[in-house]
Amino acid sequence: MSKNFAFHNGKKLLEHCAEYKMPIWEVMLNYEIQMSGKPEEEIYEMLHTRLQVIFDAVQAAIDKPEMSPSGMVGKSTPILAKAFAEYDKTGGELLLNKSAIAAMLGAVATGENNARMGVILAFPTAGAAGVLPGVIYGARERFGLNKEQMVQMMLTASAIGIVIANTATLSGAAGGCQAEVGSASAMAAAALTEVRGKSPETALHGASIALKNMIGLACDPIGGLVEVPCIKRNGVAAVFSMSASDMAYLGIESFVPFDEVVKAMREVGDMMSPKIRETALGGLATTPTGQKVAKKMGLLKIGSNPCSN
Ligand code: SF4
Repeated sequence: MSKNFAFHNGKKLLEHCAEYKMPIWEVMLNYEIQMSGKPEEEIYEMLHTRLQVIFDAVQAAIDKPEMSPSGMVGKSTPILAKAFAEYDKTGGELLLNKSAIAAMLGAVATGENNARMGVILAFPTAGAAGVLPGVIYGARERFGLNKEQMVQMMLTASAIGIVIANTATLSGAAGGCQAEVGSASAMAAAALTEVRGKSPETALHGASIALKNMIGLACDPIGGLVEVPCIKRNGVAAVFSMSASDMAYLGIESFVPFDEVVKAMREVGDMMSPKIRETALGGLATTPTGQKVAKKMGLLKIGSNPCSN
């Protein structure tokens, strides 16, 4: 009988890992082969192409920083790029190590490239597209990962994304930013933990720790644009994923299992007011600063719902 790699939750994913003696990334690869009917080489080729999109997006923002059309973002990439480049000389002034600075740079540069209409890899969404690239940049800096390992990180992260999409949502409009940046943080934490040689169970603890601490996060983008607070939020979330991964790596377990954490996230999303679910009608979007920008840009009628205009 041929193997079945389908999974809808973390429990089933771990069962596959145990039964087939595979890490999460390999189960995910086989699931993709099973679902798509494509040969392994073709899937690897696609993953390497997408990894290059990640690199190109970050590099584009570093090489040619520009303000976004709204004028809200574009200044952070050069600051972080400088801090990274000069870290060995001036990093002593900072609290975080060089890999954390690399993570913030990867995440923020991805977001700023998106804001100025550059190409990015939406992983899992455009708004949360910086977290995994950030963590890949941070891990590459710290551990000197090769491309094969980075592709494995993408596969592990995808498996976690599938579980969240099946049980809850990856959409800020449906579940708030916990579902976007929170999910991306969980995906990246699992990927980072597994690429460091830890077991699938430990990787899920990393994902749980990351997601638990994002529960309740509002989606409140100024002017309805994926810029403020999204981009810096991705930068912090990338470092946050590294913290969760370190905790799991050290043997700290999530008291609540991953599947229950995801269900809790969905329930909190269901309880959230529509005002903080991508409508720009609450939170940071309706601060005086947020409203001023939105009015100036003619992006929204103040207090109106962009989804119904
Ligand atoms: S605040 Fe909303 S639009 Fe911005 S990243 Fe979070 S979910 Fe996406």
